[in-house]
This record gives sequence, C-alpha cells and structure tokens, in this order.
Amino acid sequence: MIKVLPPSISNLIAAGEVVQRPASVVKELVENSIDALAENITITIEDSGRTLIRVTDDGCGMSPEEAKICFERHATSKISSATDLTSIMTYGFRGEALASIAAVSEVRLTTRSKNDETGSRTVFRESVMTSQEEVAAPVGTDIQVCNLFYNVPARRKFLKSDASEWRQILGEFSRVALCRPEVALRLVHNKKEVFNLHSVRNVKQRILDLEGKDLHKELLDVDTTTSIVSVSGFVGRPESARKRSGFQYFFVNGRFFKSPYLHKAVMKAYENLIPEDAAPSYYLFFETDPTTVDINIHPAKTEVKFEAESDVFTIVQAAVREALGNGSFMPSIDFEHNQYPDVSADFPRDRVPQMPKVKIDPSFNPFKTAPREDMDFIDTLPPEPVKGYSKIFEDSYSGSPLLVIAGRYIVTPIRSGMMVVHIRRAKERILYDRYLRSLDEASPISHQAMFPCSIALSPEQNSLLTENANALPALGFCVEFTEEGGLNVLALPEGYCSSEEGAKKAIEDLCAIFAESPSNQMLRAEVRHGIALKMAQSATRNSSYKNLSHTEAQLTIDTLFACPGNEYAPGGGRCFCTINEKDIDSRLS
Ligand code: ADP
Ligand code: MG
Repeated sequence: MIKVLPPSISNLIAAGEVVQRPASVVKELVENSIDALAENITITIEDSGRTLIRVTDDGCGMSPEEAKICFERHATSKISSATDLTSIMTYGFRGEALASIAAVSEVRLTTRSKNDETGSRTVFRESVMTSQEEVAAPVGTDIQVCNLFYNVPARRKFLKSDASEWRQILGEFSRVALCRPEVALRLVHNKKEVFNLHSVRNVKQRILDLEGKDLHKELLDVDTTTSIVSVSGFVGRPESARKRSGFQYFFVNGRFFKSPYLHKAVMKAYENLIPEDAAPSYYLFFETDPTTVDINIHPAKTEVKFEAESDVFTIVQAAVREALGNGSFMPSIDFEHNQYPDVSADFPRDRVPQMPKVKIDPSFNPFKTAPREDMDFIDTLPPEPVKGYSKIFEDSYSGSPLLVIAGRYIVTPIRSGMMVVHIRRAKERILYDRYLRSLDEASPISHQAMFPCSIALSPEQNSLLTENANALPALGFCVEFTEEGGLNVLALPEGYCSSEEGAKKAIEDLCAIFAESPSNQMLRAEVRHGIALKMAQSATRNSSYKNLSHTEAQLTIDTLFACPGNEYAPGGGRCFCTINEKDIDSRLS
C-alpha cells in the first residue's frame, strides 16, 4: 500500500541530507547571517554543538510573520523565479536549511526586523511552532539550536568524538572567515573565546588573524585575470610546504569548494620544488560569471563544476607558477611572457590556453639554501649493545676509514670491496625502530630534554593534541598545556633538534599525523606503524649530512646493523649496497 509520509517523517528524512553534524548547522546559520548582510556574527557552542549551537547577528532580521514561516520547507526570501536559480549570489536559496534543523533539534529564534519597533521570540519543537511572543530585542537575529538529534538517537550515536566534531566546526568557521574578511566573527566554545576576528579590509589580514601572524613571511601573492575566470589569493612558499592538509582552500564567488582536480593543478605548479609527500598552503579565490559554474549541487557537498574545467586547470597552474616565479627566493624560474594563457577579454572559448614555458634550473633545490643542522641526533643516542651484525658488516675491517660523500652516503671498505650506506634511509630505519619499540612497549622513548619553550597552538592543533595526550609520552614528548591554549615543551623525541624551531616542527608533524589517524586508536598495530614511520620520515626529511663526523658515521653504521630488517628503509629504498672487486674490475675494463 502506498502512503504519503506525514510531514514530521519526510522532514526528518530531508534533514539527514542537510544536517549531518553540528558543523553543518553552524555553516547554514552563519551563511544565513551573511545573506542577511550581518556585519557582526557571534557563534556560541556548547559541548561541540551537541547541547547548543547559537548564532547571533546584526543583519536585517525578520518580522514576526517571517519568523513563523522561515522554518517551513522551501521558505526562502531569496528566489522567486527559475531564472533566479542561475544567477544566485547568496549562500542559501533552497529554503531547506532551517526546516531541516528544526526537524532534528529544539529551536529558539529571537529576531527583530529593522522596520519593527519590537522583536519576537519563536520556539519550535519537532518542526512545529510551540510559542511566539513579543520581546525587546536589537535589530538582527539570534538562533539557538539546542540538543541536536535529540529525537534521532541513531544520528546522535553516529557523531564522532567531541574533539573531532569540534574540529569540523573550526573548519567551517575558518572557511566563512576567509571568504568574508569584512564580517567580524567571534567563536566561543564552552564559555571560552576561541576567535575574535575583527572586520578587516583584505583577505591577507584575515588569514593572519586566523592562522597566526607567523604566516606573513610564507605567503606569495597570486593575481591573474582571464576572460574565463580571475584567480587571486595566496600560496605558500615552497620551503614552508608541510605535511598538513588544513591550509588548502578554494573559493569560487565567495563559496568554499573542494576540488581534487584543481588541487592537482596547484601541485603541478610546485613540481620539483617541494618534497613529494608535502603539500603547500594555498588560499585561492576564483571570480567568475555565475552562469559558468554549477553550484546547484547537493546542499551538504562542496563540489562545484566549472564549465571550462580544463582551461581553469591550466589557468590555476600558470597563476601559481607565476606567483612562485615572482618570489625572489626562486630566481631560476623564468617566464616567457608572451606564452601566458590568454588574458584578453576576447579570448576564444574553444581554444585551450597554452601553458607558459617555464625554465627551471634542475639543480636548484630550495632546501639547499637553508642547510639544516638539526639532525645531529646521533650524538644523543645511548651506546647500543651491538648484536646481530649482518654478515657484510662482520666483513668490514674494524677501524676502517669512513668517507661521507655528497652529504648523503657513507663509503667504507669491506673485505670483498666496499659498502655504501644511504645515510638518510639508515637514520629513518634506526628512528623508526626506536619509535615503534617505545610505542609497542608503551615505554617512554629516550628523549632529549631541552630548555622549556612555549609554542602557540591553533585551536585545531590544541584539540588534536589533547585528544591524543596519552600517546605523547610514549613518543618521547614531554609537554604541558597552558591556560591560554598553548603548549610548554619540556622534551622532544630524539631525532628532532632540541630548539624552539625543532619543537615547532615536531609538534606540527605530530598534529599532521594525528589529523590523519583515527582518534583513540593509538594501540592498533597499523596505526603505531604509521606513526613511527611518519615521525622517522619527518625527522630525517631534508637533512644534509655534510658535516657528519667520523664518530657519528661509525655510530650510524653500528646502529643500523643492530636493527633487524636493516636492508631497507621503512619508507622504501635500500639502506646500503655493496660493490665488490668484480664490479670495480668490470667498470675499469
Ligand atoms: P535559504 O537560506 O535557502 O533561503 P533557510 O532555511 O536557510 O533558506 O532560511 C529561510 C529564510 O529565513 C531565508 O530565506 C531568510 O529569509 C530567513 N532567514 C534565515 N536566517 C536569517 C537571518 N539570520 N537573518 C534574517 N533572515 C533570515
Ligand atoms: Mg540558508
């Protein structure tokens, strides 16, 4: 028998699409405030949004009549005809968000339109208005969403840990903050102010307010206009690329979107300039004719589709290349100007723009310009009881000479010829084994004490570290969380330089690792393997061993051959090879 679902149930079903988690409510409410032309928005969260999500704005507000109907499905003030759909510039236009939110929470709406003397307070439960009264209120809107999913226990159970839901909220907050620098935004969680962002004139200032003033030196301007799209914003210098996915943003016409396709365009521009497993930061803002980009997609999704997708790819790649080329640190990139993709207004749509020919000096390596001395950890290794030497090593003459070549290899004679050790891989193997052992045994790894230093943390980093606080000692970290949400670092795992710089790097690496690992799963074998591997790789990345002393070289070899599985680095590649007399003979014949 076919039945028409009662509205209470159909609302619930539809709500599942728009409201997946507290962060989706934050997004919808803040977007509504911006659509209402608010200049100041305050977001108040309790318990990562489970108990309360409240958004207060000074926008245009609603009349009591509007307040009654705004929670009805397809109630919107933003479109009235089908042609409006193609040129939509506001965030919302379906009139679905408030109806969906009201279906799965208890909502109180206090609002006053600028045309009214007094305001109204309207209360909804299960999509039904339970009361409305006249109240004194400032012009604007204050929506409180309480006890999200109280009536859908399955969805409530489906929510992730508090820390993880909170990070999603931080993510939504950052996206809105970045596309609306002119709007003042405040975020309060459990009565603590997390952000208080003033209205600023440009995106760069907003980025610095949001992500830390340190970023100032790292950003390069992007600014390109073509007939298809204009791209502006910032990209990070190659040296500051990190293993972190949080600082990568695309916006089109003021709307955040994800695009693995255009991400590839950016990555292509950085080819050969950053390590393979690192990603640059970028904040790229596209402006285009709204009819050439499809945003009329699923409300909870963030993909958009450009009509001229492959042209946009080429333009992004060229724009980023140009920004990198303009950075004075990279004199070896040289554009042939005439080859820039067509930027004239009469650019024919059917012609794919050509990539500019870029000359790259293949020997240029941005990491070489700043040699890192922070990898001299080997001094701090406790002397190991050396056992289990492999056959090859027994063959080497004791006290035989060791040569460091190209800052990368140790060469030493062995009975049958010579052995070449890949220093970085050897160190990766050594550190991996140590990290893994201390994680497996849950015993503190030997760490290097240092002068305590204080590190500022982003709210996201703070959340990741507190959530995984119990794993820190086993990894060799000794830290204290400060009242202000920062961190005092007292000791670091071996492998990291015991300086403020080293501490920052270690903490950043660790946050990147935690962000990728499922939370509270530190005890699972593959998670431990992943952590040990990533830490070993990041501690040895970009290191130069030009000044490796004889003792250090000897200790590296000794320690490597005491590791089981010493032939290969955990991240891949041989740690050493041998070249025998025959090989030498054949090369000389
Ligand atoms: P949409 O944003 O798609 O129009 P919503 O369900 O999000 O649909 O909102 C419904 C309507 O309620 C909006 O079109 C707008 O008229 C009104 N509204 C919602 N939030 C606000 C606000 N903060 N200030 C003023 N009006 C609002
Ligand atoms: Mg809306």
